Amino acid sequence: MREHRMPGEVIRLAEDVIRLDGDVIRLDGVTKTYQAGALPAVAEVSMSVTAREVVAIMGPSGSGKSTLLNLIAGLDRPTTGMVTVAGRRIDRLSESALARFRARHVGIIFQFFNLLDDLTVEDNVLLPAQLAGASRRQARARAVELLARMGIERYRNEYPARMSGGQRQRVAIARALVNSPDLLLADEPTGALDTATGREIGKLLRQLNRDGQTLVLVTHDQALAQQYAARTVQLVDGQLVSSGAQVPA
Ligand code: ADP
Ligand code: MG
Repeated sequence: MREHRMPGEVIRLAEDVIRLDGDVIRLDGVTKTYQAGALPAVAEVSMSVTAREVVAIMGPSGSGKSTLLNLIAGLDRPTTGMVTVAGRRIDRLSESALARFRARHVGIIFQFFNLLDDLTVEDNVLLPAQLAGASRRQARARAVELLARMGIERYRNEYPARMSGGQRQRVAIARALVNSPDLLLADEPTGALDTATGREIGKLLRQLNRDGQTLVLVTHDQALAQQYAARTVQLVDGQLVSSGAQVPA
């Protein structure tokens, strides 16, 4: 399918798909206000993330990091502004269209893993694939492959509650990748882990990025950002105070 293209060239595909070649995320003047009269949680943020990039979003507690990530993930909609992810304008999609968008294009991991404790590890990982229409057989094959890649294949029939934090986060990463998302988002993925385990998860994320996965990482952890992200974006009171500062790898 891919032909010779100039960087930045706008390609029109089927349906409503517009691909800004190279940009996986583009935010234009994005503001999110939760309550009328309150200060915006995210204020007039414009930024973009290129395919295969890894960007860290940093900032104090309450500065709007999770809000920004949720807007990119399609978990929430902005009050004003434009959000384009994987070639789609998602800021005005309906709830059901957003759910379909997320299933196909975005994987997300959280500080507290958000696994389903009643399901085995394997079922946690294959569920989003089945929801996206894969057969159980296809979904299981993909789940096993990812669990092996995360180094936890032997836990496939375990329940998450019996596993350590680091193991649970590996399950969550496998689940986030099961539909081969254009974009992996991580909200404080090491926030509930000890330093050594956090470093292991950081290495895993970096390896995924080296293998081509676009990654946006929200973190409090300066060391994690510096070691694993090529670019750090700072939020203060919902505003972007710096973007594009290159941190030595
Ligand atoms: P961070 O992730 O940087 O700690 P958040 O994005 O969670 O920041 O929060 C930014 C601001 O928005 C905070 O003032 C927070 O209290 C507020 N906020 C976050 N989520 C909601 C919500 N669902 N309803 C109302 N206010 C919220
Ligand atoms: Mg947060």
